[in-house]
Amino acid sequence: MLPGVTTLREPLTRALGPRTAKLLESAFDMATVSDLLRHYPRRYYTRGELTDLSSLREGDHVTVLARIDHVSLHPMAHGGPNKRGEVIITDDRAKLMLTFFFRSTRSLFSIRQLKPGLVGMFAGTVSSFRGRLQLIHPEYELLPGAPPNADLTPELAAEFAAELIPVYPASAKASSWVISKSIKTVLDTVDVGEDPLPADLRERYGLYGRAEAIRAIHRPLDWADRKRAVDRLKWDEAFLLQAALAQRRMAAAALPAMPRPHVDGGIADEFDAQLPFTLTEGQVAVGETIATDLACAYPMHRLLQGEVGSGKTVIAIRAMLQVVDAGGQAALLAPTEVLAQQHYRSVTAMLGPLAQRGQLGGAEHATGVALLTGSVSAGARRSALSDVFTGDAGIVIGTHALLEDRVQFGDLGLVVIDEQHRFGVEQRDALRAKAADNRPHVLVMTATPIPRTVAMTVYGDLETSTLTELPAGRSAIATHVVPAADKPHFLERAWARVREEVERGRQAYVVCPRIGDGPDPDESEYAGQDDFSDMEPTTVDLSHGVPRSVTNVGRRQPLSVLDVAATLDAGPLSGLRLGILHGRLHPEEKDRVMRAFAAAEIDVLVATTVIEVGVDVPNATVMVIMDAERFGVSQLHQLRGRVGRGRAPGLCLLVSEALPDTPARERLDAVAATLDGFQLSRLDLEQRREGDVLGAAQAGRRSSLRLLQLLKDEDLIGQARGEATEVIAADPDLARHPALREAIEELLGVQAEYLDKT
Ligand code: ADP
Ligand code: MG
Repeated sequence: MLPGVTTLREPLTRALGPRTAKLLESAFDMATVSDLLRHYPRRYYTRGELTDLSSLREGDHVTVLARIDHVSLHPMAHGGPNKRGEVIITDDRAKLMLTFFFRSTRSLFSIRQLKPGLVGMFAGTVSSFRGRLQLIHPEYELLPGAPPNADLTPELAAEFAAELIPVYPASAKASSWVISKSIKTVLDTVDVGEDPLPADLRERYGLYGRAEAIRAIHRPLDWADRKRAVDRLKWDEAFLLQAALAQRRMAAAALPAMPRPHVDGGIADEFDAQLPFTLTEGQVAVGETIATDLACAYPMHRLLQGEVGSGKTVIAIRAMLQVVDAGGQAALLAPTEVLAQQHYRSVTAMLGPLAQRGQLGGAEHATGVALLTGSVSAGARRSALSDVFTGDAGIVIGTHALLEDRVQFGDLGLVVIDEQHRFGVEQRDALRAKAADNRPHVLVMTATPIPRTVAMTVYGDLETSTLTELPAGRSAIATHVVPAADKPHFLERAWARVREEVERGRQAYVVCPRIGDGPDPDESEYAGQDDFSDMEPTTVDLSHGVPRSVTNVGRRQPLSVLDVAATLDAGPLSGLRLGILHGRLHPEEKDRVMRAFAAAEIDVLVATTVIEVGVDVPNATVMVIMDAERFGVSQLHQLRGRVGRGRAPGLCLLVSEALPDTPARERLDAVAATLDGFQLSRLDLEQRREGDVLGAAQAGRRSSLRLLQLLKDEDLIGQARGEATEVIAADPDLARHPALREAIEELLGVQAEYLDKT
């Protein structure tokens, strides 16, 4: 390596010295030059719009060129250790005050560089304090090369600063200035190496080279320059990820797997013959695709996504039976105990004698069905483990208990993962590893529809099938927002509706965000996020239909299952048979409650989101969701999918104290307005950070997406996928694209096994 030349992999300690490197590491977890250069500006300010100090007006957003005149530090009147830093700047005609507040003298980072005599540009919004104009915590860029007594003309600024001045995401420890300076240092010496994007691709899409793009995002000449940098860097993100996924797909397809072709006259055929309903066209088509996949000599890796209630389970069962007929075993992994037990019950019920291997009344060619969850008794577990090992259990259903080491299959041919959003890639791999040859067929099913680009990115190593239609005869679900704060009598009416339904022999769910009484283990994407521990407990009085706490909207704790059940029992729903279901119940109790509800021995089930995924009780027709704004859009859609499963129409009431015209209320209105899960999943994604979406799927990797937006960059992601697939097809181990190979490893931070194998 040439002296003075930096590479992307070089540690920051060597490139910047230990002090700055340590600062950047503790503030942003940066270790290498590449990490630093991927810390992109959050915005830019424009030198072209310099404002005279004498013409400032309150409220204006301005950038001024000035010299530092005076710096001083003041205690705050009642601030304890808090301090106020005052920096007076001047352009020789007028003066302006810059104000910085500090918690203590130790956190002076943001003004440490500001010394009298230095020239810089300062940007912020003009405010006034006791009649004096000021900028509070302005962004600034010093022009350290400018002579102290230079004339403060725009030409001077032009000489020392770029047209667009980057503003970096900063922290209390590392100011935008420190980052800016570090990046400047690195940019001057870095050699970014060979471009990972193939030259012909760059040419066809008119993309900047890598070096140019990195320079231009940090030091853009103008907005057009900056846009081309972003376009190119987005391509890096999309293309590298898609190339890695394409490799994974290729590697999977290149490995042999045991074909499990359809056997005529087997259990699968008998199962079809006794199905109580006709399969939808979509179910038939997807079923055929899967049947063909399973008959192949390489493993199926398929994602089945579909609308809530579209009938994914029956597709999974048919696939499992095909494998059983072909002599193999199938495992069904469910995210919750409740769901695993429900699957077990419905599979054994649907199969009847076909699932009673070796039992009296069992069919001659029957198979066995084993259940493995954390709560199965020791004796039952021993016998289940033995059946799994010998192959007597053709179908094995369970929770993550299936992943334990002691679970050994005789011949695992198919893994079905239900409601994938609860599982990460690691679990998928752990279960796959249980097949003797490591290559079972895999079917992943999502709980709710997801946007195309998310499927392409998060599940990009899987082929995708989609079920859009619901089985015929399914009644619609009507959804209404019940505004508990502005229209209290609506809630009274809601409980009356629940009573009416129960009088007609129907059943209802009441869903609450919390269990109540102690810490809450039920994970719910939104409800679990906040820490409510410092909030005052709620007294709920629903007897008149109005939560008493309307006065402290947003401050009270979310409603809990225990409180709501007690209040309903004593008031609006007294006399009805109420049941309680949540994650802290003993598993046996959970199972007992679900059975009782399924058998209609419970009228109203008050529950947390444990019922969110997959619970199927067709006689339940009403769902009341309390504090509905606490839940995510897709989660609400998933929840309401629990009603309207039978012949009677479903009703979902979203009870919320969110006031009209608030974002929370608008989300609820959106859920009420459409039953299209794909549309809602887009909305959900728009309201979350991409990292949250990718989080589970990319666990263990640092999120590789900085600029790419899954919804907005749909076209680019599609193109990148096509291009990447072609490159990988022609050069699977990237022998001819060493820079690309290296970049994939570096970007994803994984020494991916599929790269090593090939
Ligand atoms: P999801 O796709 O949300 O997992 P399920 O597989 O739980 O949906 O199916 C919902 C309900 O629809 C179940 O009671 C199932 O038996 C029923 N079902 C599935 N397919 C059909 C069909 N073709 N016709 C009628 N009912 C069906
Ligand atoms: Mg399901």
